[in-house]
Amino acid sequence: MIDFNVPPFTGKEMEYMKQAVDAGKISGDGMFTKKCSQWMKERFSVNHALLTTSCTHALEMAARLTGIQTGDEVILPSYTFCSTADAFVQMGATLVFVDVRPDTMNLDERLVEDAITERTKAIVPVHYAGVACAMDEIMDIAARHNLKVVEDAAQGVDAYYKGKALGTIGDFGCYSFHETKNFSMGEGGAVVFNQDDKAEEAEILREKGTNRSKFFRGQIDKYTWVDYGSSYLASDLNAAYLWAQLEMADSITANRMETFDFYQRELKDLADQGYLEQPFIPDYAKHNAHMYYIKLKDEPVRAALISYLKKQGVSTVFHYIPLHSAPAGRKYGRFHGEDRYTTKESERLLRLPMYYGLKQEDREKVVEAIHKFFA
Ligand SMILES: *Cc1c(COP(=O)(O)O)cnc(C)c1O
Repeated sequence: MIDFNVPPFTGKEMEYMKQAVDAGKISGDGMFTKKCSQWMKERFSVNHALLTTSCTHALEMAARLTGIQTGDEVILPSYTFCSTADAFVQMGATLVFVDVRPDTMNLDERLVEDAITERTKAIVPVHYAGVACAMDEIMDIAARHNLKVVEDAAQGVDAYYKGKALGTIGDFGCYSFHETKNFSMGEGGAVVFNQDDKAEEAEILREKGTNRSKFFRGQIDKYTWVDYGSSYLASDLNAAYLWAQLEMADSITANRMETFDFYQRELKDLADQGYLEQPFIPDYAKHNAHMYYIKLKDEPVRAALISYLKKQGVSTVFHYIPLHSAPAGRKYGRFHGEDRYTTKESERLLRLPMYYGLKQEDREKVVEAIHKFFA
């Protein structure tokens, strides 16, 4: 069976985890946590990068750091993972879902302004498949209406918009290092931002409400409980695992990109014949090959293809059930405007096997099986 995902593994992970153990520091803020944060700051040209226990937690931190309060409204796509929404629900916000663009499956920036009310506090673009949202337009709307922008860049690590790293354009950016993402530490994530005056608040929030980070840097001689906080600090053991991958980020991305380009090239004939649609990458975006999806005619064709491929030994999966149709989505939010694409497009989207190290012969099998289905 060709798996849909295999967690990334480069070979150095065990050695680095052993180093963390030998150093006698497996909890947070050890040497690997520092290496990973430093790497993100340099590579993505961002002032602050805090490793967290997940992207869900990074989003929770961002929601709190933007000062969202009960009754505030947040604009986001319905076509996303529930964590994007959970973070703001936790702060008591109301979710306002806006339709996606069918070409990128990203929040349609042309529909955002119409969803703004006097209660709106933030826009949360999700860079689906690591393909950037139209950030100039979104940032412009945010500036004119005095709104915060939290980028859910869970899938957008090491992907760019007009040369800027995703996650670093809005007020806060959130990354995921879950095992299904390009770079992994099992469970983990990061929150990145440029605003220096948020750094201390973010550290305190991550460290159970204490100023322990300052204490470890020797800036104060004892630490204390100074504000509300939680435990969002990732363990150094996990950071050690991640470091083995960040170190090899270029090869990981290049390898995934090969798979992406192969699918793109080898399925083009089927797209030309109208059997399926292929992903679209806008000129402004440099993506990271997080995902390769195709769109079928409709849900029955997709279901038939999934079961056919399964019999051929190829595992494929669809993706989000739109949040506004879920029980929690109805409870905490509303869909603004017409659902022209969210539901319809989500029902025909199918993700093909994509992971670091996917073999050429397996790529060929996937493509052959899809051709056979349509023949
Ligand atoms: C993976 C993902 C998340 C959650 O990431 P975790 O690290 O598992 O918490 C959030 N949003 C999107 C868009 C994702 O793809």
